[in-house]
Amino acid sequence: MICFLCRTKNNERLDFSNLFERPHLLCEKCRIQLSECKIMTDKRCSYCKGRLIDGNCMTCEHLSDCLVRFDHIYAPFCYDGLMKALIQQYKFMRDVALSEVIARYMIWPPLMYDLIVPMPSSPDNDQARTFNPVKYVLNAQGIDYCDILIMHNRHKQFDLTKKERFRIANRIALKDEINLENKRILLVDDIYTTGRTAHNAAVKLFHSKIRKLDMLTFAR
Ligand SMILES: [Zn+2]
Ligand SMILES: [Zn+2]
Repeated sequence: MICFLCRTKNNERLDFSNLFERPHLLCEKCRIQLSECKIMTDKRCSYCKGRLIDGNCMTCEHLSDCLVRFDHIYAPFCYDGLMKALIQQYKFMRDVALSEVIARYMIWPPLMYDLIVPMPSSPDNDQARTFNPVKYVLNAQGIDYCDILIMHNRHKQFDLTKKERFRIANRIALKDEINLENKRILLVDDIYTTGRTAHNAAVKLFHSKIRKLDMLTFAR
């Protein structure tokens, strides 16, 4: 088998010890490098898993105007090293087969939710990319999801009045009238950077009286 990422030939033999395991998609070297991208939670913000500077999380400070919080944010990998290379090749070089790799090596939380919701990207982005990176990974893992959020395209700022700009600061919206009352939801995104988009989605979901909202990001 050939490593999906570095394309070297993998000479792993099938024997009784690995006969019943799913076959590896990455060579051993790439798997080791990937495991080095796992986030050690003790040196990270307990909420968003961001890097701490003098004990403070800058991401959370920037979000201090936001009134909603996820119950739990799962961020198993940092957006660095091999994980960064993997996501960049997947997302920006459109190497769609890598959705299988991300699905295979992701650390999935127990999926005890009423709905799994992929974070939307703007139609402009999806069209340019020709696929939605989060949905492809969920498909690869065989996870049923509900595509209930949309993201509006970014308007050119100079076309807008100040009032309009404020109104569309949150470009995320619920697709249609769907009853989310008391639902437990897992929101899934590929990269969590500032957390702003995730929290914009959370605002809209909490507005629909959901019971619990967790977040999984493939990389942080
Ligand atoms: Zn490799
Ligand atoms: Zn934080």
